[in-house]
Amino acid sequence: MPAEPGAQPAEVADPDLAPCAVTPAVELSAAERACLELAWQALLAGTAPIGAVVTDATGAIISTGRNAVDGTAHPPLVAGSLLAHAEVNALIWLRDGRERHADYRLVCSLEPCLMCAGAFRMAGLGALTFVGADPFNGATWLLTSDQYPGRRPVEIAGPRTDRAGRLAAGLVVAYQQLRRPDGTFIAALRKLRPDLLAAGAALIDAGLFERAGRREPWDQVAEPLLAAV
Ligand SMILES: [Zn+2]
Repeated sequence: MPAEPGAQPAEVADPDLAPCAVTPAVELSAAERACLELAWQALLAGTAPIGAVVTDATGAIISTGRNAVDGTAHPPLVAGSLLAHAEVNALIWLRDGRERHADYRLVCSLEPCLMCAGAFRMAGLGALTFVGADPFNGATWLLTSDQYPGRRPVEIAGPRTDRAGRLAAGLVVAYQQLRRPDGTFIAALRKLRPDLLAAGAALIDAGLFERAGRREPWDQVAEPLLAAV
């Protein structure tokens, strides 16, 4: 089912960004690049840097969403709510409630949380890819449980363990370091994944927030941020 024509947020200027020149080269699908760009746009908008897209059976991006917990947006996007997660805002364009989307894939910059894993399951998609790990809030385990959520097989890929994975997770770590340094997320990562804390610190050292403050475009920041992690 195609998304509503012209209804997509015009936020991904060019999903086919130039190949990254960091060594070793980081190969990203167009959907993964779009997710990272949406995450950057979320950061510029002052909310958690997380992005998500839905692709169809050919791999084409048919809808996009970014976190809007702190912010505003036009319907049907969810904004200004604790429920305004990137994945929800990507899935919400799939409007035909009679249809299952078994040949669609949800691609996210970060492992989905409990709500978003549930939303993915309820939207009937057949595959999920996430770039960065979220060892605290991530809830893809829900999709393989013996209970209802795990009773339809889905293909799950992620997280990436290369620079792309560290960048995707590091963006959120850096954001949380700035906003809630004494919060449960940072405390949990200190125990579970100190390497991701280090990735967030490396991004801050590389001028992440200064670049965001200057509203530098994603195609300008992608390479130096990948190189920093
Ligand atoms: Zn979520």
